Amino acid sequence: MRIAEHALLTDADRRAIAYNDSLDQRRVYPHESAIAALDAFDQPLPGTGREAGQVLHTLDELGSPATVTSNGPRYFGFVIGATLPAAAAAERLVLAWDQCASSFDGSPIADKLEKVAARWVCEALGLPRESAVGFGTSATACTLACLSAARRALLARHGWDFDQDGLIGAPEIRVVISETAHITVRKALRVLGFGMRRLQLAAVDEYGRIDPARLPDLDDRTLLILQAGEVNTGEFDRFAELIPKARAAGAWVHVDGAFGLWARTSSSAGLAEGVELADSWTTDGHKWLNTPYDSAMAICRDSDALAAAMNSDAAYAMASRDSQKNLTLEFSRRARAWRSGRHWPTWGAMACAR
Ligand SMILES: *Cc1c(COP(=O)(O)O)cnc(C)c1O
Repeated sequence: MRIAEHALLTDADRRAIAYNDSLDQRRVYPHESAIAALDAFDQPLPGTGREAGQVLHTLDELGSPATVTSNGPRYFGFVIGATLPAAAAAERLVLAWDQCASSFDGSPIADKLEKVAARWVCEALGLPRESAVGFGTSATACTLACLSAARRALLARHGWDFDQDGLIGAPEIRVVISETAHITVRKALRVLGFGMRRLQLAAVDEYGRIDPARLPDLDDRTLLILQAGEVNTGEFDRFAELIPKARAAGAWVHVDGAFGLWARTSSSAGLAEGVELADSWTTDGHKWLNTPYDSAMAICRDSDALAAAMNSDAAYAMASRDSQKNLTLEFSRRARAWRSGRHWPTWGAMACAR
């Protein structure tokens, strides 16, 4: 069995390396014939398992030609991932570890590295060091986590116990978002029960940035959502003007910085000046940092707010406030902190430094 398992993993590695080696030569979008050949996968549910090596062979022979080469040098489609070799290498080892990275009990190593990575993220981005950082599956999921923490905290300030009493009869929380807010921010709001018709849209200037002169009134029941990096123009809202105004009014400010927040670590840091004044931030790992997919961060200045909103302690699974299961939507989860970045060396990058 061991020998067969070795052979299988070695074969998978050989195929993966051959695929990576071919990235420069591959067409970016698969040929029609490769897409048509995918019909071969459309078989009845097999009654018995297939030989694993054969499955791998089929996956490679039929699957690899039908991939989009977004990990290659000629992909100019969406703002999308392209995993670096350092990250892919760390991912291989992590897959062998196969940790349930919910808390220290499930994986001391994951717990340690994610705590270190959380500290480094805040330092690299120039965000408050006391912030909680949840490593979640996507900016969408992390935005959902941050916005639920925001609503819960705003309601608590008005004496409303969201956990026990829910939304029926609760004071209304107003949401002000940019006309150009990302669809996933709207999705998170919709899923959380903020009706689309009730959102107040902040008008934007010719660059797609919220125009501070036309910002709707804010108060201490308002959730203001800004963005660092708008998908069509790459523009940043004018944080240094908007955030102090919002905070003075008692509003909660969340920033969608899926890719743009990392401009803070570049020569374009000025674009995101003042973003550190917000209450919460979302960012992706798979975009600017070139980590594998399923890698994003929910960052919240008030660590208790995120920890309380995301808490999932049970009699059989108690853990510290800053355990990842208490900072993200996930309970069982893979660890994400050892993925790597081009501009930001995580443990993955350290294992295989560029
Ligand atoms: C990609 C993106 C998102 C959504 O991120 P996911 O990780 O795909 O959920 C949100 N906002 C902006 C600005 C983005 O570019």
